[in-house]
Amino acid sequence: MIKVSNLTKKYGSNLAVDNISFEIEKGKIYGFLGPNGAGKSTTMNIITGCLAQTEGTVIIDGHDVFDEPTAAKKLIGYLPELPPLYTDMSPKEYLTFVAEAKGIKASEIGPEVERVMERTAITGVASRLIRNLSKGYRQRVGIAMSLLGDPEIIILDEPTVGLDPRQIIEIRELIKTLGEDHTVILSSHILSEIQEVCEQVIIISHGRVVANDTIENICLMGNQHPVLHIVAKCTPDAAVAIVDEYEEVTHYAITECSEGTELELTLMPGTDITDRLFFEFAGAGIAIRYLSNRVSLEEIYLKLTEAAFEDETQGVAEITDISSDNETEEEEYKPMFREAEEEEDENDSDL
Ligand code: ADP
Ligand code: MG
Repeated sequence: MIKVSNLTKKYGSNLAVDNISFEIEKGKIYGFLGPNGAGKSTTMNIITGCLAQTEGTVIIDGHDVFDEPTAAKKLIGYLPELPPLYTDMSPKEYLTFVAEAKGIKASEIGPEVERVMERTAITGVASRLIRNLSKGYRQRVGIAMSLLGDPEIIILDEPTVGLDPRQIIEIRELIKTLGEDHTVILSSHILSEIQEVCEQVIIISHGRVVANDTIENICLMGNQHPVLHIVAKCTPDAAVAIVDEYEEVTHYAITECSEGTELELTLMPGTDITDRLFFEFAGAGIAIRYLSNRVSLEEIYLKLTEAAFEDETQGVAEITDISSDNETEEEEYKPMFREAEEEEDENDSDL
């Protein structure tokens, strides 16, 4: 459906998109995930024909976006990061205006505007001024705009930024329903959002694609460096005495916690000592409060994008390739992907 090949974008000397290639198949919901500044909006602007690339090609259903922009753009509905809403119009007036600009036949504009308003549940506010609508409803108007003309592909750039938690849930539900009959690309810097809505994830960091797979497969990447998390009701010394016996443990971090001791064990690739440790602790009369050998998508995401984070804080710019044999030192938890969820919308009401 979409084939992006060797796409590069430079803003002056700043390399925003660095030779990326990926394909989007028909009918799935794709997550375009990466920290701020990773190059998500730049890539989306190029795919939608709003921005010219420096190098590379984007082919939409056989049409090159650069050479045949009209044919390619017909297939795409786009909600940019900052939707160009005319706030002195009502949703109905605005959508009618955009439908005309998109070249929809005059006789079809009325029914088409009704259709997209129904689909995005804004019919009830059709005649209010957009500036009087909540951010959640304004975002629905933006999504309705992207649906005009019934394009096969819908591209949404960070559609939930700045919304309150309830609005976020509603917009996510709306996106899921759009995925039933469209190919959807949704960008976000919030991992949980991508995890909840998308089937396939493209992780981008420093303008490069660092992972492109199903969420399940990306989680499996963690098996190359198995990690065991344990919380045991004992002293750190007692825990160390047990763990030290296992040659599979290549590295451990131990901290005292309210429930006893928290351990993070890094194991030799391909090994699993979860069950053995469970019985060993139990045999020593130590209760295990938590035991998990699953590496979360969040941990993998942090690993894949940590170079970008370090770059922002310390000026270090190196891409970490998790699939290669990079050392796993103790890692600090960096809760940098939650900010939008915590952001307060000054307008709490729904309308
Ligand atoms: P994201 O959407 O992932 O946050 P962007 O695509 O907006 O990332 O930005 C990628 C990089 O390109 C950043 O370093 C950003 O500062 C830079 N950039 C984005 N837009 C422009 C622009 N119009 N002019 C110059 N640099 C830009
Ligand atoms: Mg962006």
